[in-house]
Amino acid sequence: MPRIPVGFAMTSTLKTRLFRAGFSTLAALRADVWLPAVTDWRGVVLTMHRVRPAPAEGFAPNAHLEITPEFLELAVGRLRRRGIALVGLDEAKARLAAGDRERFAVLTFDDGYADNHDVAWPILNRLGVPFTVFVASGMVDGTASAWWLTLEEVLRRADTVDFAGTRRRLASDADRHRAFRAIARPLRALGEAKRDAAVRTLAAAAGVDIPALLAREMMDWDAVRRLAADPLVTIGGHTVDHPSLAALSTEEARREIVGGLDRIEAETGRRPRHFAYPYGSPRDVSVRDVELARSLGLEVAVTTSAGMLSGTGRNAAWPRVSLNGNFQCGRDLDLLVSGLPQLLDRRRLAVAAG
Ligand SMILES: [Zn+2]
Repeated sequence: MPRIPVGFAMTSTLKTRLFRAGFSTLAALRADVWLPAVTDWRGVVLTMHRVRPAPAEGFAPNAHLEITPEFLELAVGRLRRRGIALVGLDEAKARLAAGDRERFAVLTFDDGYADNHDVAWPILNRLGVPFTVFVASGMVDGTASAWWLTLEEVLRRADTVDFAGTRRRLASDADRHRAFRAIARPLRALGEAKRDAAVRTLAAAAGVDIPALLAREMMDWDAVRRLAADPLVTIGGHTVDHPSLAALSTEEARREIVGGLDRIEAETGRRPRHFAYPYGSPRDVSVRDVELARSLGLEVAVTTSAGMLSGTGRNAAWPRVSLNGNFQCGRDLDLLVSGLPQLLDRRRLAVAAG
């Protein structure tokens, strides 16, 4: 998941419109042509979640987490035409350490959705492109409550929903969208344990079986193992239950990170050496968490703070650039990989760069 709930609350409103206006202006100024020359960056890690053929329509509050297979293929072609090499995380780290000047991009997918295996893998395999999947082990095991998926399913199925003392009727997709926007933010603000309980209460009232939902939406371990066996694919950790680490005690945060790595190692026979912080925004990832990742020996740990790579890659909080459902055209992509996020990034974690 990218930065939320800000993204959820504002996606369809002011923020996207402002972003769109800014993108259009920059495109008119051909920023994609001159920005690479005036910005000093060496690589970019792209964040994706789902790759699905059918464009999301109707009630699809998580549509920003999806791109189409066509856009994925377009992105690969576009990056290559701009002379940006597509490499894996290990290669990225080696290039940064060596001071290699050729620009590169790393494709990453968060959470472990089934379509990463079914849809994205065949495309990237055919194109010879390495990629990384950061797997939240509890989402694969069906033990996590994955609030954004569960809330979507609850609102799709139920006629009414009760939350925080308010009953909402769900008679249309507009009602469902409104309810999602109204509930997502306070739900997210509840904190891990209370949110988990609230999500399970909502699911029980609507007859939503969370493990069955996760079995439908996520890879199973056989799929993870098949991906892990491909030399072009890297499996990374993403905790067990996908919590906002900054809200946890140090011991809980350590248990989440290590528990996810242990589980993936038990199922694939390989211990992940790379990690993505759940949600990944500055308010979800504290300096303590970055130190934790470093002390656990993780080689690369990525956030969702927007930015390009320019240091030596030794810090344990790499920024990324999100490719999401709101920006699925070549022009947007050109701007995103032009160095623009480096100029826009004012919220980078206060950790030693490189
Ligand atoms: Zn995630």
